Amino acid sequence: MNYRAVKGMNDILPDEMVRWHHLEREFRVVAERHGYGEVRTPIIESTALFTRSIGEATDIVEKEMYSFERHGEALTVRPEGTASAVRAYVEHHIHQKEPVTRWYYLGPMFRGERPARGRYRQFHQLGCELFGDAGSVCDAEMIDMLHGLFMRLGISDLEIVINSLGGADTRPRYRQIIVDHLEPRKARLSEDSIRRLSSNPLRILDSKDERDIAALEGLPSIIEVLTQDDREHFDRLCSQLDRLGTPYRVDPTLVRGLDYYTRTLFELRSQAGQVGAQNALGGGGRYDNLVQQMGGPSTPAIGFALGVERILLAMDVAELASPPLVVIAPIGPQAASEALLMARELRDHGICVELDGRGGASTSLKAMLRRANARGARVCLVLGQEELESQKVQLKDLAARSQVLVAREELMHRLLDVLQQPMMTGGAA
Ligand code: AMP
Repeated sequence: MNYRAVKGMNDILPDEMVRWHHLEREFRVVAERHGYGEVRTPIIESTALFTRSIGEATDIVEKEMYSFERHGEALTVRPEGTASAVRAYVEHHIHQKEPVTRWYYLGPMFRGERPARGRYRQFHQLGCELFGDAGSVCDAEMIDMLHGLFMRLGISDLEIVINSLGGADTRPRYRQIIVDHLEPRKARLSEDSIRRLSSNPLRILDSKDERDIAALEGLPSIIEVLTQDDREHFDRLCSQLDRLGTPYRVDPTLVRGLDYYTRTLFELRSQAGQVGAQNALGGGGRYDNLVQQMGGPSTPAIGFALGVERILLAMDVAELASPPLVVIAPIGPQAASEALLMARELRDHGICVELDGRGGASTSLKAMLRRANARGARVCLVLGQEELESQKVQLKDLAARSQVLVAREELMHRLLDVLQQPMMTGGAA
């Protein structure tokens, strides 16, 4: 029997992890600089939490959730992070403790989509949620923060698309305008859109189907039918972004797939690197009614989620430097025991050390050096019988292809010296 990972779910091996850690670190730095604190919620929640918040007629709830029953409860492995954050915010009465709350999260999400490049069934998101402030300053600051993050990551062809869906009163009105416009053209719509015309007409704007695009021609844009308050909010956001010099494009057809959005919506796209067709790196928006809808007090909120795998595809950095590695190659069992002590001492000084324990048995020095080079080690410390007796160590600089016999008490000093020198091209010693 050959076991394989579940379709659409990937192993991430240590080689790739350097890039993951880099992205996660940059995200944490940027989020924390903006006053966000990390929240970790369970990966499994009650199914009702998602159906209620994301919306019954969305793709996620209709066909993508990993749901099951256990101990008489209907449960779902989370498809996104906002519902859980809102649940935690309400459950812990956070609004009573502080007027404004900024949370960030990172972790795996699960959606049973058709797998493709940049689209998986287990994928990872980085996200932020801000509760308690309705001002457009939050929207502008959040979009600018994302722009800053992407610039730090070296994704320069970023496109930021924004739109407004209006508030509680705009949506039903626009919904009716869409229905009135499409009802006479119903026969020309795609099958999905015919269904959505009664369940979720806004989603038809998202459709890439030629028939739907043709039928939508002549429909007034949502921006044109915003209430005065919503329109002012959106105009303020645009002028604040202008003031910041943060680039954006207004696209009135941007609706996004989740039901809870109100007012500001945004999406981040890039064609950089190897992104391919799945070019949405992340998105978000306001959800001013969701906290109340989920049983909390009326609390405005805004948030976003970024797709880690897609950002990594867009981040075309060839190699990120990992910390320099030192390999200790002992020859014989006695040297191996001594190497244990040496390795611990070096690690206590913050050096990354891999002890090649095979040298304690019969593995040759040549094989250990080959392995050290393959691991990209900067230095190999050779400890043979002779070195043991003379209290010395052979220090091989694998990058400079040089070696020097160093007294044991000099080792730390000499080693730190070598590790601080810039790495030339690597090669065999
Ligand atoms: P959403 O939660 O649908 O707003 O998605 C936010 C971001 O998560 C998207 O822009 C993608 O970058 C990423 N994402 C969503 N679904 C997937 C998926 N199935 N595979 C990989 N990334 C995804």
